[in-house]
Amino acid sequence: YGQTARLYTEEDPVVILTSDTLKQTLFNSSSAWLLQFYSSWCGHCIQYSPTWKALAGDVKDWSQAIRIGVLDCAHEKNFDICKEFSIHFYPTFRVCYSARADRELQTVRQLMVNFLQNHTRQDWPVSCPPLEPARTEDILSLMGQKSEHYTAVIVEDGDSYMGREVMLDLMPYQGVVVKRALNSEKLLMEKLGIITVPTAYLFHPNGTHAVMEVQKRLRFFYSSFLKLLPGVHRKQSTSVQHLEQAANKGHSSSEVLKEFDKSKVYMMDLESGLHYLLRVELATHKTLEGEELKTFKDFVTVVAKLFPGRQSVVKLLETLLEWLVSLPLEKIPYNAILDLANNNMRISGLYLSEHVQWVGCQGSSVALRGYPCSLWTLFHVLTVQAASQPDALANTALEDDPLAVLQTMRRYIGTFFGCRECGKHFEQMAQESMSQVKTLDEAVLWLWRRHNQVNVRLAGSLSEDPMFPKTQWPTPDLCPACHEEQDGLHVWNEDMVLTFLKQHYGAANISPKYIS
Ligand code: FAD
Repeated sequence: YGQTARLYTEEDPVVILTSDTLKQTLFNSSSAWLLQFYSSWCGHCIQYSPTWKALAGDVKDWSQAIRIGVLDCAHEKNFDICKEFSIHFYPTFRVCYSARADRELQTVRQLMVNFLQNHTRQDWPVSCPPLEPARTEDILSLMGQKSEHYTAVIVEDGDSYMGREVMLDLMPYQGVVVKRALNSEKLLMEKLGIITVPTAYLFHPNGTHAVMEVQKRLRFFYSSFLKLLPGVHRKQSTSVQHLEQAANKGHSSSEVLKEFDKSKVYMMDLESGLHYLLRVELATHKTLEGEELKTFKDFVTVVAKLFPGRQSVVKLLETLLEWLVSLPLEKIPYNAILDLANNNMRISGLYLSEHVQWVGCQGSSVALRGYPCSLWTLFHVLTVQAASQPDALANTALEDDPLAVLQTMRRYIGTFFGCRECGKHFEQMAQESMSQVKTLDEAVLWLWRRHNQVNVRLAGSLSEDPMFPKTQWPTPDLCPACHEEQDGLHVWNEDMVLTFLKQHYGAANISPKYIS
């Protein structure tokens, strides 16, 4: 059974149900469910699984209203429940609609919207906003009214699903209410001076209102625009609030954030990350030997050769590398490495930040963001740097390997990264697809794609900073050309993404701000 059971894993944004959990989960749930009963030996189910995962990722933010589950009828312990539900063919979709297997992602999403809207009042999922169009007088009454939140009004054709999709996308967020109005409302069209649809109006808390300017009038652009408004953030679960309170003991929770620009990368984050990695994370290892030592050497090679940092920092890394290469030792006490770094700094003024300070990676509380954010940033910078200097690793053990940076990251994360679960997940992704990377450019894109996969998984989880919600990145405001829509579905323009990544993580975009 082993292999086939992995059609869906805990990694995926679907809920994996079994006969033990199905009924209890459904009965105790305040949301509606869309279930796929599949069979892990059915070829069509296997082919359909990427679409189902894409759908589940696409509507993850709707989960208070509707959730996506899977149940494997080929698993012996599920035989009874599949019989009880009369599942004769795979895949079968249940609970809200018995959709046909070859449904396109967009059609299933629209079925979900229809289902939610037509649901009888008594089983209405409590968290779901009303999806009917708003009345003209209700919208006109918003004009000039002060409010505690933004109100976005999407004016569109009756057949359009976009408004309802944006409403559901914003369901887990506070600070904004989304409404939908129809272009058949002549008075509204006239009063707001709307000529073409879709058009969105944004009513600000201060009572002013204006057309929402997005680069493309698509669901993803509107949703992303609203999520990024100042004061709009993800509603916190009570467990996050507890964590926050614990983390903020002694601090005021509304500590002001340092000024930063999210279209820049900060050298302070990169140096703080290196500082933490060398002085804290690795320092928990008394000695390095065998695979650990090799991983460490490769890591130092990659950063010494590719890190686009201050001369003094690069020099320090190069000295460390020379020393590691020249030592014939099989086993190095980590203290010796620390001493070397410290002595070098004292004697020659070679300098790496003395303490951590986060800028682009600062969190709204001390428990959030910081080091893991800087590690992602560092490796994105290194993949981009490797692609722009293909010869940088010449004459090292990593010469001519388009996977050099990714493999080094993989081994570093697996061996040293303090978050064990993260390491396991990353290793799973690496095993699945890293071997398909054949060029330095593909390495840049691979890391971007996998980072987004992690973002989908972590959206709404405990490690998400509500002030910095996990989204598919780069957001449309950073790179409008990266986003397109095909047959109603969001797609990336990967050529544009690559160009953007090279610019964003390129040496010229790294700001020295806050480095003393
Ligand atoms: P991060 O995800 O850390 O991103 C940092 C910055 O990178 C963002 O602010 C943005 O500017 C940019 N960015 C975002 N997405 C992309 C992208 N797709 N491509 C390029 N740049 C991007 N935490 C868990 O709870 N569970 C895990 O399993 C887990 N696995 C991890 C695996 C690895 C290898 C790493 C390095 C971290 C992992 N983490 C995990 C931590 C988690 O991914 C975040 O780093 C952490 O929650 C901090 O999030 P953040 O908001 O600062 O953004």
